[in-house]
Amino acid sequence: MHSPKLTSNGGLAPLLLPLLRLLPLAAASTLESCLESYSVPFNEQNTTAWDNDAAPFNTRLPYVPAAIAVPLTTAHIEDAIRCAVEFGVKVNPKSGGHSYASLGLGVLDTRVYVADEFSILASSVGIGGHVLHGGFGMSSFTHGLALDAITALTVTLANSTTVRATASDHPDLFWALRGAGSSMGVVSEFEFATFEPPEELTHFEVQLGWNDTESVVEGWLELQKWGEEEMPREMNMRFGVDGRGVRLDGLYHGGLEDAEEVVLPLVERLGGGLFTGNVTYDWLGQLKGYAAGEPINSTRPYRAHEKFYAKSLTTRALPRAAIESFTDYFFNNASTFLSDIGGGDFPGRVWWLLIDIQGGANSRISEIPAESSAYAHRDKLLLFQFYDRVFFGDYPEDEAEGYALLDGFVESVTSKLDEDDWGMYVNYADPRTEGVAEEVYYRQNVGRLREVKAAVDPTDVFYNPLGIKPAEVSKDDS
Ligand SMILES: Cc1cc2nc3c(=O)[nH]c(=O)nc-3n(C[C@H](O)[C@H](O)[C@H](O)COP(=O)(O)OP(=O)(O)OC[C@H]3O[C@@H](n4cnc5c(N)ncnc54)[C@H](O)[C@@H]3O)c2cc1C
Repeated sequence: MHSPKLTSNGGLAPLLLPLLRLLPLAAASTLESCLESYSVPFNEQNTTAWDNDAAPFNTRLPYVPAAIAVPLTTAHIEDAIRCAVEFGVKVNPKSGGHSYASLGLGVLDTRVYVADEFSILASSVGIGGHVLHGGFGMSSFTHGLALDAITALTVTLANSTTVRATASDHPDLFWALRGAGSSMGVVSEFEFATFEPPEELTHFEVQLGWNDTESVVEGWLELQKWGEEEMPREMNMRFGVDGRGVRLDGLYHGGLEDAEEVVLPLVERLGGGLFTGNVTYDWLGQLKGYAAGEPINSTRPYRAHEKFYAKSLTTRALPRAAIESFTDYFFNNASTFLSDIGGGDFPGRVWWLLIDIQGGANSRISEIPAESSAYAHRDKLLLFQFYDRVFFGDYPEDEAEGYALLDGFVESVTSKLDEDDWGMYVNYADPRTEGVAEEVYYRQNVGRLREVKAAVDPTDVFYNPLGIKPAEVSKDDS
């Protein structure tokens, strides 16, 4: 594979950085005066810049940071962390600000602007959060997660030192950053291996005729079998469930004829369906297609926001009992929450699910060794995203009317599985997993992650409620 290196560093000039440092003249009395004394740019409160940077993507979860630093150099990042430690506040880097749980809005905003050139997702999602915690898109079955393409990361640690981590330099840190980056430091430079884009890609949708329990259960079992054993490396596919039924959505890395040879026999096996919307693109064309009218080069200030609650699941192929339980929940419970915008029992509220086929015999994600990074779900076949959005008004505060909808979906599946058979994906962060977050997002990697955290951030400067906690140092070690 052709693999040139793509380096993005947001325009820093590392050799000049020490010259830009100013030592504080006198001990600062406030966090902001500390930033000022080090010449770290920051946003003043009650300004448009502050309002823009403090605005969450998910307006259900607004937070007010203690301060917003806007570093332009690695030295600024080091000094901002120095001030935070001195004033006893926690540091949360923010990149695109698209955390479902507003995790980038903790205390200090240390923004990093770089272009996302290889993964497919909403054009406004930031590279920082996305690639450090997974990075799944419609090229991942073919090429792996976005984090699999990382070759080096420049990161500033809690002690205000900056290191470049690779597979051979700081290998434990490099491992931990790729999966749990937000708990370890502030990454300011990302280096990637790239791949040669295909000349043609085919996008398609299939509206499946699954409209009762039997057709969903039998179709789902067949689709899983195909995903596990036969889905070719060029295919990237998910099925979506919403009030209109079940749909396949796919991007084949190749032309229309080749795509049809794969998809049409599959549709037969799944009980038939309407094959629509097949569009052949080049690389940029498919990026624009998925951006759905948004510019793929996002500009600031960023004004698109949504109010929602979301959850996730990663699972092995589901046993029949779990699919039946999910399907029963869909027909008997969840469908009562369905509404058209502006009507029905829950006006202005829309929910949907996406279930990606991420694993399987031919998946690049499954092929990459599990121990290569802190992403914990390479043994899983399916990646679920559950999304419940209100278009106007507030998200229901009443538990039964609000969270219960998605909780019930997740429970309908997990209640039929062993714990080993499922996990959750931290890029679809659910703030209500606080307390079990390390377990569900990181499973077998929690122990090693806590050790790395204890080595680089023993006092949890980079705290977030869903993050990794430092391993406790035993008295014998200290
Ligand atoms: C509209 C939309 C579409 C999406 N589509 C997809 C998709 O197709 N596939 C997918 O996998 N995910 C998708 N996501 C989820 C997305 O990947 C995550 O929300 C991701 O964490 C957002 O990254 P961010 O930099 O924009 O967010 P931020 O809120 O800025 O950051 C998220 C987390 O990363 C940390 N962080 C950010 N920058 C850095 C840094 N430089 N160093 C260390 N830590 C950092 C933050 O502290 C925070 O904990 C989507 C999200 C949205 C809102």
